[in-house]
Amino acid sequence: MVNPHLPQPATLRCLQIMVEPDVVTIAVESLATYGVCPLCARRSVRQHSRYTRRLGDLPWQGRSVRLLLLSHKFFCDVPSCSRRIFTERLPDVTRSYARNTDRLTDTFASIAFVCGGEAGSRLAQRLGMTVSADTLLRTIRRTRIPVASTFRILGVDDWAMRKGLRYGTLICDHEQHRPIDLLDDREPETLAAWLHEHPEVEVITRDRAHCYAKGASAGAPQAMQVADRFHLMQNLRQAMVRMLDHRHPQLKLAMRDAVGRDPPTKPCDAEIPMGSRTNPLPRRPTHRDVRRNRRLEKYEQVMELHHKGMSNRMIARQLDINRATVGRYIRTGEFPERASRKYASKTDRFADHLERRWQEGCHNAAQLFRELETIGFKGSYCSVRRCVAHWDRSNGSSTTVRLPNVQPPSVRRSACLLLKNPSDMDNQDRAFTEALLERCSEIHAATQLAREFAAMVRDEGGGTLNSWIQRAWHPAVPREIRTFATGLKSDFDAVNAGLTTAWSNGLLEGQVNRLKLIKRQMYGRANFDLLRKRVLYAG
Ligand SMILES: [Zn+2]
Repeated sequence: MVNPHLPQPATLRCLQIMVEPDVVTIAVESLATYGVCPLCARRSVRQHSRYTRRLGDLPWQGRSVRLLLLSHKFFCDVPSCSRRIFTERLPDVTRSYARNTDRLTDTFASIAFVCGGEAGSRLAQRLGMTVSADTLLRTIRRTRIPVASTFRILGVDDWAMRKGLRYGTLICDHEQHRPIDLLDDREPETLAAWLHEHPEVEVITRDRAHCYAKGASAGAPQAMQVADRFHLMQNLRQAMVRMLDHRHPQLKLAMRDAVGRDPPTKPCDAEIPMGSRTNPLPRRPTHRDVRRNRRLEKYEQVMELHHKGMSNRMIARQLDINRATVGRYIRTGEFPERASRKYASKTDRFADHLERRWQEGCHNAAQLFRELETIGFKGSYCSVRRCVAHWDRSNGSSTTVRLPNVQPPSVRRSACLLLKNPSDMDNQDRAFTEALLERCSEIHAATQLAREFAAMVRDEGGGTLNSWIQRAWHPAVPREIRTFATGLKSDFDAVNAGLTTAWSNGLLEGQVNRLKLIKRQMYGRANFDLLRKRVLYAG
């Protein structure tokens, strides 16, 4: 049923089509027999004149299309209305004063939201639509994004505007799986003010940061807070790393134990750095050496200033390094060597053959390479040479062994290993962890508690959290784990909810990733309002 008081959709009639090499011009006229005054909303049939509007329209086969629209002006004869003459409205075609049809504007909006200004402008050009980057950005700003007004289950997480300097807050709806708002800081007051407007919220998932705990308690005291399981595990790992930082010498000793226990290697080799036996000549410093020397220099400066009694913050400022690095150097008490990483190589599959031939006395890399090729090796000669470069060639036959790498895994990797199931490790890692646990009772106690906590996270075993915390407070447990337990106690309800409910912040992690992608697409020049719109658009 058509409402006679509303403006009727104008019908257009095509008068002529002019096709030029890169533009198509379509002349159309409006067939409306009356107009509706925009001020008093009364109909008028008294025509004043006709005039031509030029409108951009959707392209045709890569050519841009221009409409020449012959449109009416009407008189408004209502005595009380201040408008005397008005132009006819074409609600389904275009808005007043617009220079494009609505459908072209909608297309620009879609392009702008997906590609942003500059890239969007280039794409539109390629598709036969000419539009500037600024116009596309204006389109984003003008678009209203519909967001549902009530939410039950929310998640909050922070994101970096400038990493380490400025952060914002992303709020997502877990039920609709989409972002619902972006706040431009992560202060508790901002979140609380936002939550005050939404008294219907029942659950808030968050990480372990105090600002969100405080903001959520202040703004939505009725809601249950859920600490995210991933972040609980991350906090646990960090506590383990700090714990191992203080016991760094134990890692080295444990590695030595493990190497000594490993049957094919000789413990005495442990003292010899890799390669020194086969290559006694001084070698040219590699990039790795240069970087190591630079770090060593910094380390020595840090320790010197520390012994003079300077605070960590001052040292970090004076030497222009991260405060966490300073703290780490001082905690560890010795220069933290970087553990070398083992990369997968094409020679891995042929290790047995190589070792056997090496023990038979074939120390010629070229010869070994030719042999491997005949049994299906696809790698290069260099990879074979690299593989055997540090193998011992001193005494030919059965006693030859690979020089063991006595460098223990990094503190971070050791912490991960301690949390891992021993059956998922390779032999070397397992020997190392076993040696480490045997050697140091404190590390053993910490590891046992950490593994129990990890099991609670995995199996949603919130009921035992309190007794776990009590046990972790035992004086024999390393301080770092006790501190972690104290942190859990102070946030007990949220942690317990994290362990017992199904909600987690996983959605937020994904949405923060999407936000970062959009932010980088904007080359770091994005204003907050533009970024907010693009994140919320069909998110
Ligand atoms: Zn009027």
